[in-house]
Amino acid sequence: MAAKRKTLNDAFYETLKDVFYAEKQSVRALKKSAKSAANDELKQAFETHAEESAHQVERLQQVFEIIGKPARSKTCEAMQGLTAEMEEDLEDFGDSPAADAVLIGCAQAVEHYEIARYGTLKTWAMQLGLEDAAKLLDETLQEEKRTDELLTQIAERANAEGDEGEGEEDEEGEDQPKSKGRGKGKEDADDEGEDQPKSKGRGKGKAG
Ligand code: FE
Ligand code: FE
Ligand code: FE
Repeated sequence: MAAKRKTLNDAFYETLKDVFYAEKQSVRALKKSAKSAANDELKQAFETHAEESAHQVERLQQVFEIIGKPARSKTCEAMQGLTAEMEEDLEDFGDSPAADAVLIGCAQAVEHYEIARYGTLKTWAMQLGLEDAAKLLDETLQEEKRTDELLTQIAERANAEGDEGEGEEDEEGEDQPKSKGRGKGKEDADDEGEDQPKSKGRGKGKAG
């Protein structure tokens, strides 16, 4: 028999499996982020969104039910990559003053991926006449967007506070290379020595 041509229904189911995997991963990543965050507001935001995300997983299960297909996960390479980057960033910046900023950056990358996926799924659900599914997907989409916006606000507030702090306290020697935990040898050779005071004139014009 001739190979069956795939339809938008197939694409919807395959993407649903991808997002199902990604969402479950995101619950884990958010719990980890909540533990790692130093800022209380950020910690709270991660905890809240971890709870929301657990509920989003349930919503996806409802969508599987609506289309009458088993709730299965399919490895999402994008989410795998994003969480791998997060692990790496936590290792590199975990106990630095930039730790929270880096954590927010990683979380926002995940939110943007989710926004892209849920946006697509919602559009397809409407085109397929799956109104109830579209509604569920939109609820999640709005939560992802709100979370992304909240993270931007927290990042802006934190950076503003960071600037003030630096000016007021004027901590001497803050920028001295601490030489601890450096030289992990993970980065490319041309990235080495980035923070050394001697390396002037790298021509990036960063300090300008
Ligand atoms: Fe989510
Ligand atoms: Fe994916
Ligand atoms: Fe999310």
